[in-house]
Amino acid sequence: MGKIMRVNLSELKFKVEEMPTEYQGLGGRGLSSNIIGREVPPKADPLGPENKLIFSAGILAGTATPNTGRLSVGAKSPLTNGIKEANAGGSVAQKLARLGFQAVIIEGCAKELTMLKVDQSGATFSPASSLKGVGNYELIERMKKEHGNKISIISIGPAGEMKLKAASVTVTTPDFHIRVAARGGLGAVMGSKNLKAVIIDDTGCHPVEAKDKAKFKEAVAALSKAILADPLGPGMRDIGTPVLVMMINSFGCFPTKNYSLGQFEGAEKVSGEYMIELMKKRPNAQPSHRCMEGCIISCSNVYTDEKGKVIVSGIEYETIGLMGSNCMIDDLDTIAHMNRVCNDVGVDTMDIGGAIAVAMEAGQLAWGDGKAALSLVKEIGKTDRGIMIGNGCRYTGEKLGVKRIPHVKGQCLSAYDPRGLKGVGVTYATSPMGADHTAGLVLPNPGNPSYNPGAPTGQGGPSQFMQSFMAAADTLGLCMMAGMPLLDPVPQSTLISCVSAFIGESLNEDYLVNLGTPVLKAERKFNNAAGFTEKDDRLPKFFVEEKLPPSGNIFDVPEEEIDSVNKF
Ligand code: SF4
Repeated sequence: MGKIMRVNLSELKFKVEEMPTEYQGLGGRGLSSNIIGREVPPKADPLGPENKLIFSAGILAGTATPNTGRLSVGAKSPLTNGIKEANAGGSVAQKLARLGFQAVIIEGCAKELTMLKVDQSGATFSPASSLKGVGNYELIERMKKEHGNKISIISIGPAGEMKLKAASVTVTTPDFHIRVAARGGLGAVMGSKNLKAVIIDDTGCHPVEAKDKAKFKEAVAALSKAILADPLGPGMRDIGTPVLVMMINSFGCFPTKNYSLGQFEGAEKVSGEYMIELMKKRPNAQPSHRCMEGCIISCSNVYTDEKGKVIVSGIEYETIGLMGSNCMIDDLDTIAHMNRVCNDVGVDTMDIGGAIAVAMEAGQLAWGDGKAALSLVKEIGKTDRGIMIGNGCRYTGEKLGVKRIPHVKGQCLSAYDPRGLKGVGVTYATSPMGADHTAGLVLPNPGNPSYNPGAPTGQGGPSQFMQSFMAAADTLGLCMMAGMPLLDPVPQSTLISCVSAFIGESLNEDYLVNLGTPVLKAERKFNNAAGFTEKDDRLPKFFVEEKLPPSGNIFDVPEEEIDSVNKF
């Protein structure tokens, strides 16, 4: 188990602590949510000094286990007002683990904009006033010049400095592209602490070793084989997450025109298959790219313009769904440019896509007007309209008097309409994180042919299982693409063998449930104490009342079944 670094920004001091008994065996989301649950008053102002910001490496970070380098960022969220964990790939978590840290806890608030550097000697602080208002892309270039290219960077853009509710936290990949812990406005928490960036330098450190090296090597080989055996693997490898566009569109669940249609007539033009054809003609484009060392799937990409200049890495399904079809925009270049601006200013593409769609519904701009949408995104943090949009979908919808606002607990839905994928709808409704597909994506599964995603009942159990599974995956630092092939007991046992060999204990087949479920309970307890009740575990009424064309589905899962999910 790594140690904990506690950073007090008010005093510009730090201390290193052994992992307290109550946090033993945890990493990633499990660790950050337990720290928040014990150390942050549930009714604290998310942007006040009592809130804490946690960067936590998963249990397996820094080891040779594939796809286990995700960084969890946790705090009380200014977007949902509840507990929040958002995670991202990149190289930060692996470097933190190699430095011997399971988590860095940021407390207090610096008097001026500050930069933190963490390396083998501990932590150092420096003023960051020269970075005020600087976007993430320029910040990364400046940091590389100053600190060399062996570092990793956590940073916020101007949106985080301005404490906008949809502000994100950005991390770098080994080749200095951007990955984003996007959801829940955690960039605003970082901004409220006057922390512009954290540099992680693990020079001189070694990989994290397993307790039982021989067994670990064997288990890693078996786990890699299990992940690569996934039938969806080739699609993810060759096309990445945009492979989902045509699939979800064919299910009639692709969010279109602010969730008023389930199929988009421009779907093919924003599909993964179309994207790959475009990339073949463009210099420097990479249809397959890995966001972290040790990834064996490479679902990311590097999207370039016609001249070969990088626009963004990577363009993902969720961004295409929320900034594309949901706004009726059918041009990948426009969506890629909107994505880049969001990464630079530091906001969540999903909540911003949701905000633009509700602004379109309010008549502020025309459906499908990509030029106007891009120009609006460029206003984020600069004009009144840009500040409104930067505060996300719910804020924008309420400000403009829109009735149909697709959010739960203040967070915009992901790119799966819950009327056709009702298990996903139950997850949106009941997750302590607010609407979020990564909290428990329930999709049709060839391994479970009896599951019907459109049936009104039989959704609570699969959602509960997936929420617990994802809480465990997020605690291990495992990426979702590598987690999905491990849902069944046989492939899952290879992951459990890795953890067993790593910690030198023999874990049983219930390990993941026993890891994930208590994390959900701790998060639920925090949210209850913050004032949430079962009434907050509901989808917006229009999903229950409006039939979704072309299927005619409504979200009709009974409330008792929704509420059963959190009766552990
Ligand atoms: S599969 Fe995709 S998200 Fe997962 S580690 Fe690889 S590139 Fe990152």
